[in-house]
Amino acid sequence: MTKSSFPTMWIRTAALDTNFMFLAKPRGPENTLRCHLIALRMALCILPTSPAIACDGAQNIQLLKSVEISAQQRAEFQAMPSLKVVAVDAPPMARYDEAGQIYSGIAIDVFCFITKELGLSFEIPPHRDLTVADKIRQVQDNQADVFIPLSHSPARAEQGLFTAPYYESSYAVIARHDHNLEIRNTADLANYQIGFVQGVAVQPILESIVPPAQLHAYNQTSSDGLFLAVRDGTIDAAVFNQPIFIEKRYHQEFLDLDVIHTLHEHPRAYRYYFSQSPEHQHIIEAFNRYLAAIDISASIQIHEKGERSFFKRYMAQRDQRLLLQTASVAAVLLALISYFALLRYRKLTRLLISRNTQIQQQQHALQDSYQELQTLSQTDSLTGLSNRRHFDEMLAYEYARYRRTGSPLALLHIDADHFKQINDRYGHATGDDYLRAIARVLKSNVVRATDSTARYGGEEFTCLLTDTTPEGARKVAEQITRDVVELGLPNASATPPQLTLSIGIAVVIGGDPGRQMLFAQADAQLYIAKQKGRNQICSTVIG
Ligand code: GH3
Ligand code: MG
Ligand code: MG
Repeated sequence: MTKSSFPTMWIRTAALDTNFMFLAKPRGPENTLRCHLIALRMALCILPTSPAIACDGAQNIQLLKSVEISAQQRAEFQAMPSLKVVAVDAPPMARYDEAGQIYSGIAIDVFCFITKELGLSFEIPPHRDLTVADKIRQVQDNQADVFIPLSHSPARAEQGLFTAPYYESSYAVIARHDHNLEIRNTADLANYQIGFVQGVAVQPILESIVPPAQLHAYNQTSSDGLFLAVRDGTIDAAVFNQPIFIEKRYHQEFLDLDVIHTLHEHPRAYRYYFSQSPEHQHIIEAFNRYLAAIDISASIQIHEKGERSFFKRYMAQRDQRLLLQTASVAAVLLALISYFALLRYRKLTRLLISRNTQIQQQQHALQDSYQELQTLSQTDSLTGLSNRRHFDEMLAYEYARYRRTGSPLALLHIDADHFKQINDRYGHATGDDYLRAIARVLKSNVVRATDSTARYGGEEFTCLLTDTTPEGARKVAEQITRDVVELGLPNASATPPQLTLSIGIAVVIGGDPGRQMLFAQADAQLYIAKQKGRNQICSTVIG
């Protein structure tokens, strides 16, 4: 045994891979040190390898009557090397907190209280990965001094020393809740395949009831194999410490398994188990005197309550986990939906843009066609001048403008002389050529944007000259007749024997005789020109 007044904690730095040994006193203030060490471990990412004991729970133990320990005896205890402790995870007796690597529980409280009273020191050397059986063997082989906590069995008593009991718990029969076993007492176990952990105190009782072929021992560090066997139907039921199972059930999610019967008739009394030595015999005697004088009900209450709060905490964590999982799945789904919606949106946008472009192109084509159609509907196909319908529109429009502005508007009514004979003599195609030639002459003389010229029908043409005086209109007409004569297109029936034009002009100034009147007056002047022998211009002013 190592001489020390503190329990030992081994820690190893991940970075340096170096072992350090820390000591902490098994009483109140050292808890602070323990907390500091835990914080230090976490802060430095240090990997702990050895557990500690939460000795502040000793205050839960009440001394009901004084226990006399002689000064000599006390001095002996104080002079003893630290007790090497091995502990197991067996709530509510001793619960092992993985995160903090600390043991706490009823057995721990009592042990801390009594060792403190006796002046004994202790330590927990590293004993990772040892099974319960290994730890018991360590005590029996004198490698460790005391085992916390252990229930009594004659076999164990032969190889070690037990203190008096200080807490009782029961074994439970554990089965799948859909299995419907009929177990009302211990004897009923004989009807089923029963599993247990090798070496437990209840083993002799089971062996006396269950036929050997139906009894299955499981030997492992954790009892998970036993519960997995119940789950998969290898065995019908497991007999196991009830409080430990209840915690494991939640902790390791054996929620499909239930306690279906409690073996109240075989209570399990917990004690401390010491290795065999005369010094330990003295310790046990002193322990027993204290065990007879203390009240541990406060500790029991706290640690059994601890069980309940553990379940609540566990369920809250489970709910949180579920919520987090659900939220994560929802978030992933949402992200996927958004992603696909975005893809679809982009696809639709592209489709929309292409459809829009198509529609715009079609609209432009339609507009072009409409424009073309409108032009066609307004144009004389032979000469390319406006046709009669368009001329009528332009006359209406310009006459309205005349009414607004009052600026003179002139209308020339032009007719080819003796055109019938041209057709008759030179053929209709030549007649068409003549008509096209007249149109070119008209176009070259009527050039202002607001003026217009049209083929009114047959060999008759019109010119609409805006803001034009009678003199101006006559000048244009004279130029037209001159230009046509200059074309020198033959017309043997005419005098002179070539293509000539007769033109009637009406100019409206000041009044509002109406556009029909304007046209009629121009027509009348044309008639006069014809009457006067053709190839001449007659004009009038109306108002
Ligand atoms: P006037 O001097 O009195 O005007 O005698 P005209 O022969 O010109 O008069 P009329 O109105 O009797 O004859 C017009 C002729 O114009 C009749 C027709 O053969 C001809 N004409 C009308 N439209 C076209 C056309 O598109 N092409 C051709 N080649 N001839 C046409
Ligand atoms: Mg005519
Ligand atoms: Mg004519």
